[in-house]
Amino acid sequence: MKAVVAHEINKFSVENVDLAEPKAGEVLVKMKATGICHSDLSIINGTISWKLPSVLGHEGAGVVEKTGELVTQVKPGDHVVLSFIPNCGECYSCLRSEPYHCKENKPHGGLLDGTSRVSLNGKEIAVMSFLGNMAEYCVVPEACVVSVDKEIEFKAAALVGCGVTTGVGAAIKTAAVEPGSTVAVFGCGGVGLNVIQGAKIAGAAQVIAVDLSEEKMEIAKTFGATHTVNPANPAHKEIKALTNGIGVDYAFEVVGSGKLVEACFKSTRINGSTILVGVGRADDSFTINAMIMPFTGKTIKGSLYGNANFKVDFPMYLDLYKQGKLDLDRLITRTYSIDEAPEAFEDLESGKNTRGVIVY
Ligand code: ZN
Ligand code: ZN
Repeated sequence: MKAVVAHEINKFSVENVDLAEPKAGEVLVKMKATGICHSDLSIINGTISWKLPSVLGHEGAGVVEKTGELVTQVKPGDHVVLSFIPNCGECYSCLRSEPYHCKENKPHGGLLDGTSRVSLNGKEIAVMSFLGNMAEYCVVPEACVVSVDKEIEFKAAALVGCGVTTGVGAAIKTAAVEPGSTVAVFGCGGVGLNVIQGAKIAGAAQVIAVDLSEEKMEIAKTFGATHTVNPANPAHKEIKALTNGIGVDYAFEVVGSGKLVEACFKSTRINGSTILVGVGRADDSFTINAMIMPFTGKTIKGSLYGNANFKVDFPMYLDLYKQGKLDLDRLITRTYSIDEAPEAFEDLESGKNTRGVIVY
């Protein structure tokens, strides 16, 4: 079967690989759609350090082809969306409905037992984030799949596996934005647009999109942004001006920059919250004056995978899509065949795509 394999930094290709049968607790999924995310690119270019060679892919939807022993939650024929963080159901975090911090989430490049079912030229290779689903088929842990409504198109369902959940969840779950509140979103790429959609669903009165690209801010308006601010001028000053000098209730950093965290912090009101969604470089940091914290009551909070309890949240997001409250279709700029993966990554890198999706 075909799979997109990262061989070494800045070298990837579409390869014919072999896939072993699912073991106990594992599921064979025939992929129907795989989203191409910035994190896939980060593995290719080395921003995220990963065991290589590795099959890429961590956002997708498909059909269960076969299940290993002891699998009870899905059956052949089910339509499933994949989660790149497992829900083991037993650890401290999973028992508290916080599986986005599941103790099994370790970057070893294998399935739960640390080995993978994929081999290239007779040698086992890694898979990305328990999935490696930029491939015609994948074997994944049962702890990483959830059945979804069969009426939903695969390419829309696929997006819920990463970008949508990360963005919408940051707004409605991590921050728990309330009706009537004011929000600023720094960074209006795919995830930022989903933070904007989430804030809109939550009933925010004012959603201020902040981006250097006027084009991206125009798109942001169509997803629910009420105002736009170009950070070429200090963004926090314009945000204060747009909120009667008060600042926003919630500011979201969706780029992954310490400097922007500081800008978000300055943009929030007294008792306001800054939510960190973007993943920056490991050596980046931010500075907040210690005395300011007690006197302003401000909060800084991280958001991983939109605080998703994915077995509940993926179907919930797809319900919102069916109701017309969540727009997934317009997030997809174009689709590709798996052979067109190199072109898809070029388009991602050049900023052409909100989301590119491989369909099989
Ligand atoms: Zn992703
Ligand atoms: Zn767990």
